[in-house]
Amino acid sequence: MPGTDPALGAQVVVVSAHLDGYGHGEPVNGDSLYNGAFDDAAYVATLIRLAEARGGHGFRRSVLFAAFTGEEKGLLGATWFTRHPTVPKANLAADINLDQLRPLFPLKILTMHALNDTTLGATARAVAQGMGIEIRPDMEPDRHLLERADHWPFLKIGVPATGFVFGYDPGTEAERRYRQWYAIRYHRPQDDMTQPIDFQAARDFNLFFYRFTAAVADDAQRPAFLPDSPLKP
Ligand SMILES: [Zn+2]
Repeated sequence: MPGTDPALGAQVVVVSAHLDGYGHGEPVNGDSLYNGAFDDAAYVATLIRLAEARGGHGFRRSVLFAAFTGEEKGLLGATWFTRHPTVPKANLAADINLDQLRPLFPLKILTMHALNDTTLGATARAVAQGMGIEIRPDMEPDRHLLERADHWPFLKIGVPATGFVFGYDPGTEAERRYRQWYAIRYHRPQDDMTQPIDFQAARDFNLFFYRFTAAVADDAQRPAFLPDSPLKP
């Protein structure tokens, strides 16, 4: 989606999700179709919805819609793209990646990857504040989720990048639903439309994503690494 600003239009904000699931596989509870509804079909659909909502009307920066393959095999598609981008590498201004957000409970807290590494953190906080959403860093960095999604190859080549997951306070019903999803749905056929989706929460996140993408793509300042980030190139 070409940018409208003569000066900023050459810069490109990538919005990304991944296409691959596991297809047919080992049956679980008699079901062998690994639908991958949250991981990650819902978020490829969210990219399509953003494109539809814009109806061809660009932001100041250009936006590149990327549906990567090979995520589950080790971020292969995103890694390939960052090595062989379809636009000049120097023009890649940011990547906003969507990966199994899991709207299973109301959206009050959003965990943001690389929150304190780039200016995208402050931009997200400004957008979230107006929606009553609190942005937090990953509370379980030992799980290395930062390095296990398609925003990571962008960070590795020096492009500010981020991703989000629904957050919760410890000991709450939200945490119970989050843990239960990992136990019975994650990478299983049961990641399908039988799961208890909170559609209001899904809608709230999508609205945040549209506004955040607009804020990044329209900002006069190009996204940048913060001086004290260990990821700074
Ligand atoms: Zn996945």
